[in-house]
Amino acid sequence: MGEPAALPIDRYRQVLDEHLAQVERELAERRLAATPSGERPGFGKRAGDYVAQVVEDRTNNQLADSLAALATSIRHALTRIDEGRFGSCEKCGQQIDEDRLQAVPWATLCLRCQEAGDQAKKGSLLRRSRH
Ligand SMILES: [Zn+2]
Repeated sequence: MGEPAALPIDRYRQVLDEHLAQVERELAERRLAATPSGERPGFGKRAGDYVAQVVEDRTNNQLADSLAALATSIRHALTRIDEGRFGSCEKCGQQIDEDRLQAVPWATLCLRCQEAGDQAKKGSLLRRSRH
């Protein structure tokens, strides 16, 4: 009980690396699938097809947004590994439960702070990086 349990950092780094690669691949596919805006329905295309395409684009874009946010979180976690801060809560500095890290390796807050943050965030969910 004397020494703190060392986290298997190398394993987490590997998991995060793999996850990031997967997310970025998925993200690239979504971005490709979403037709660039400005594309108009061509001749021979029924309006219904166009609507379906627009709806699909929107879904793809929403998915791409959340994938991009996830990729950012994973990169952030990798940075924290490099800085030797991985596994400690960004708010209170406590070690994050390993159960939680195994489920969400890019978690930056302990469960307690996460829950406190979720409550405080109600109503102000805007991300700073939105343009
Ligand atoms: Zn905390």
